[in-house]
Amino acid sequence: MSKPETVPVLLPLALPAPYDYLAPEGETLRPGDFVVVPLGPALRLGVVWHRSEDEKPDVAPAKLRRIQHRLEDVPPLPEISLRFCDWVANYTLTPPGMVLRMMMSASKAFEPPTLKFGVRLGGEPPERMTSARARVLEAAEGGMIFRKSELAEMAGVSTGVIEGLVNAGTLLQEVLPDPWQAPFDLAREHAPLSDAQDEAAKALLAQTGNGFSVSLLDGVTGSGKTEVYFEAIAKTLEQGKQALVLMPEIALTTQFIARCEARFGAKPAEWHSGMTSNMRGRVWRAIAQGDAKFVVAARSGLFLPFPDLGLIVVDEEHDQGYKQEDRVTYQARDMAVVRGNLGKIPVILSSATPSIESVVNAEAGRYAHIRLKSRYNAAQLPEIEPIDMRATPPERGRWLSPPLVEALAETLERGEQSLLFLNRRGYAPLTLCRNCGYRFECPNCSAWLVEHRFRRRLECHHCGTFIPIPDECPQCGAEDSLTPCGPGVERIDEEIATRFPEARRLILSSDQLTGIDELRRALREIEEGAVDIVIGTQLVAKGHHFPGLALVGVIDGDLGLAQADPRAAERTFQLLSQVTGRAGRAAIKGKGLIQTYMPEHPVLQALAKGDRDAFLAREIEARKTAGMPPFGRLASLLISSGLRDRAETYARDLARAAPPAAKILVLGPAEAPLAVIRGRYRYRLLVKAPREADMQTYLRLWLGNAPKPKGDLRLTVDIDPYSFL
Ligand code: ADP
Ligand code: ZN
Repeated sequence: MSKPETVPVLLPLALPAPYDYLAPEGETLRPGDFVVVPLGPALRLGVVWHRSEDEKPDVAPAKLRRIQHRLEDVPPLPEISLRFCDWVANYTLTPPGMVLRMMMSASKAFEPPTLKFGVRLGGEPPERMTSARARVLEAAEGGMIFRKSELAEMAGVSTGVIEGLVNAGTLLQEVLPDPWQAPFDLAREHAPLSDAQDEAAKALLAQTGNGFSVSLLDGVTGSGKTEVYFEAIAKTLEQGKQALVLMPEIALTTQFIARCEARFGAKPAEWHSGMTSNMRGRVWRAIAQGDAKFVVAARSGLFLPFPDLGLIVVDEEHDQGYKQEDRVTYQARDMAVVRGNLGKIPVILSSATPSIESVVNAEAGRYAHIRLKSRYNAAQLPEIEPIDMRATPPERGRWLSPPLVEALAETLERGEQSLLFLNRRGYAPLTLCRNCGYRFECPNCSAWLVEHRFRRRLECHHCGTFIPIPDECPQCGAEDSLTPCGPGVERIDEEIATRFPEARRLILSSDQLTGIDELRRALREIEEGAVDIVIGTQLVAKGHHFPGLALVGVIDGDLGLAQADPRAAERTFQLLSQVTGRAGRAAIKGKGLIQTYMPEHPVLQALAKGDRDAFLAREIEARKTAGMPPFGRLASLLISSGLRDRAETYARDLARAAPPAAKILVLGPAEAPLAVIRGRYRYRLLVKAPREADMQTYLRLWLGNAPKPKGDLRLTVDIDPYSFL
């Protein structure tokens, strides 16, 4: 008698391991198959997992429940996705089911696909011809397939006219092909690469096609890195393999998609949180089936089920947006390298301001270092000057110093564009009572309430709590005594409005532009020159190409340096280089002015002298001395509870349970800099280890033996943390 087959099934839940089930009668299942299984009283969707030879199911078959059925028309998860899932779970100390959950975050992919219909000219001409109908026939000429609404708009008629022509049999209804079904034209004519680009492309291509490699494509802003890595994408598509480009900010993708289409003759598939769930389902399936060959995605795109991935590009690889902080905490840039290694494929990391981690890897020879040192087409890098705020302070109640005001006036005069950068949303970061000194704080967080004049309220940026702006002080009752302190972008906008009433202004911040469409529209307006002065938060720092931008003014160059964070200097350098790097990308010579109270700070000096390498050398030396990443490893353990005592006691117990290890240091517990968020008290432990230490094994041993968090206690482990608040 043959033994009933037992099958491990991983469920997208916070479970430590797959569960064993019996295979459906008479069916053989393979790892990666999607199956419906009973769990408690419910049915759940899971994935048949892989098992190594020596692993034996530990439950007697008689006790096992049976898999209900396999989803026949869903492509299985590729074997490499299973291995990648295990790897990420192991590295981040997350239950593998939670990683699987990210891999399955397209619920519509598991339902029968919905078809969308379009219309195409093909039948007999209508018996009754009207001028509206004639316009439609003209617009539809050529036999292409259109969405009904699209054709109606092209012909300037209502969709009723289209329907009429469908009923008359003139227009035929057909299934609309997905955009990624259009073939790429790889031989398409495109602007030739410059000599420098050509050299860089050759170096990149030498790396591709030989299994795993990482190349750091390191070129100043506007040097044409995109055109260079397009060559590697073209080669990958030529080989019939899939290519994935990760981007830190989905608002960026419009310009990028247009460039891809111009270069390859068809649009890539997109993947990000702004898509409808139907579209997500379609894209997921198309990728799993190997139909979508070219995908542009947010960081989560790394977890898509590519069966035949041939290249990963991580654009703006230094960007903090690649670190996911909630649920599974992972760094997508690092995991892209892991995915490349597992799949034996090349990875390209691209940036004008690469991360210290990547620079160190390049210097050590682990990554190929490909540099582009000047801008494409002889466009010049902007000249950068710090403005010493001690020597030339702004007038009282104002935030722009005289040299910056002058530069703005001159730029306006010349009809060119300016950008003012301040990484602070709202009107003022703090409101206080002039009479009694009362400060508005969030009742749930250790944070001030930020005044948002545009939305007329005081708002907490950590938990979202808000109150209307009051007329009197809640403490002393004084009227008209509330004073905003310090500027946010809205306040800068106000100052610009009074100084340059004739200028066309635009605030680029998530408060003013809700939703991706508004943001994209705003970016287009700037690009087209419909705006004179842009005032923006870090949204403006990311890779946009604004051809008419001549001047960039940084309102507070010191803001990022004040943070208690091992990467503060690096981050400030990157942010300020990126922001000022938006200037002068086309014909105009650009200028960057940075307001600062410490112009002698090495970060500002390096920016002013354009000496990135000196900054990097210094920063790398400092990290080495301090044993900070990438020369040492860090992990953060965040403990939180609604009760301060409980959080603190548990944090201490946890620290006491840490096994002694020669070179591993457990620091803390210390109250987190943001001591309370959403009414939860927060304590941090920081684990510091040398590079060669096995942080994961150490943590597993420790947490395995330590008391478990009970009640409302929560413990969050963050490997390679980027946030220390
Ligand atoms: P980076 O990503 O390095 O900042 P981009 O790739 O965005 O730079 O290129 C900057 C600008 O130069 C873009 O407008 C791009 O279209 C243009 N460009 C780059 N390379 C070429 C080329 N070989 N031919 C024509 N235009 C190019
Ligand atoms: Zn709050």
